[in-house]
Amino acid sequence: MPGRLDGKIAVITGGASGIGRATAVRFAEEGAYVVVADLLAGRGAETVQAVERLGRRAIFVLTNIKEEHDCEALAAAAVAEFGRIDVLVAAAGIMYAGYVSGDDPTTAGALGRHVVDKALEHWQEVLAVNLTGTMLTERAVARRMIGAGKGGSIINIASHGAKTVRPGSADYRASKAGVWMLTKVLAVELAPHKIRVNAIGPGLIDTPMSEYIQRDEAVMQNWLENVSPLGRIGRPEDVANTALFLASEEASFYTGEILFPTGGIFTG
Ligand code: NAD
Repeated sequence: MPGRLDGKIAVITGGASGIGRATAVRFAEEGAYVVVADLLAGRGAETVQAVERLGRRAIFVLTNIKEEHDCEALAAAAVAEFGRIDVLVAAAGIMYAGYVSGDDPTTAGALGRHVVDKALEHWQEVLAVNLTGTMLTERAVARRMIGAGKGGSIINIASHGAKTVRPGSADYRASKAGVWMLTKVLAVELAPHKIRVNAIGPGLIDTPMSEYIQRDEAVMQNWLENVSPLGRIGRPEDVANTALFLASEEASFYTGEILFPTGGIFTG
């Protein structure tokens, strides 16, 4: 049976870990070739190997999405290797300034600060990666998609935090709300080129980014009993499957939308 992404070329930022890695693997299971982009070369290489074990080709491109040059070089490398780009999943992101995937953030000075105590450079760092970096990645990829004239699908990993409030995370939440609006404007701008742009707002997902939350028994008990009707946190594969849908022809009438795989946290 043909895969749902047979022969498609997918660029995945944040592909070294968590949601990005699960998406790379899920896409490869459905026949895609994958360009893994991340700051973490070792873990990026592991994702490449996971894709190759599924019989699909993948490359790793060392990328800091904050840097305009890196984003252009990423898109150029993808086209040089595979000829074009059909899908972009922009999953690279940080929770707080200085976050390195898998860190224990409870020791980080930049986590949990209220706005009145927040350092300007910490605020700017989160916006620079999550919002501006996402825009730079999309701009570089969309230019190639427009040039190829074959349309495409761009998928931004935002967060349920784009529309929920928790003190101490204004920078993260504002950046994700910005990604949501970026998604809508780009959807309109790119529609004439048959490029669809959608976002995903995951709930709490079991990745290195959420490990510190998962260690907090009181927070977890409240989440499982009162916040998520399904009574579990999400798996990276839950988000990867949403991305697969948005990347596929099945979502050909979706653009400018945000889908929320959250276990139902907005039912309350
Ligand atoms: P993760 O830490 O496992 O993965 C994030 C990846 O992004 C890492 O591989 C990291 O190296 C990479 N990255 C960070 N900054 C980068 C940069 N400047 N350039 C290139 N790569 C960079 O965490 P995750 O949970 O898989 O996060 C993926 C996305 O999902 C993020 O945008 C995050 O905000 C979002 N998200 C996560 C959750 C959750 O509960 N885990 C919930 C909602 C949204």
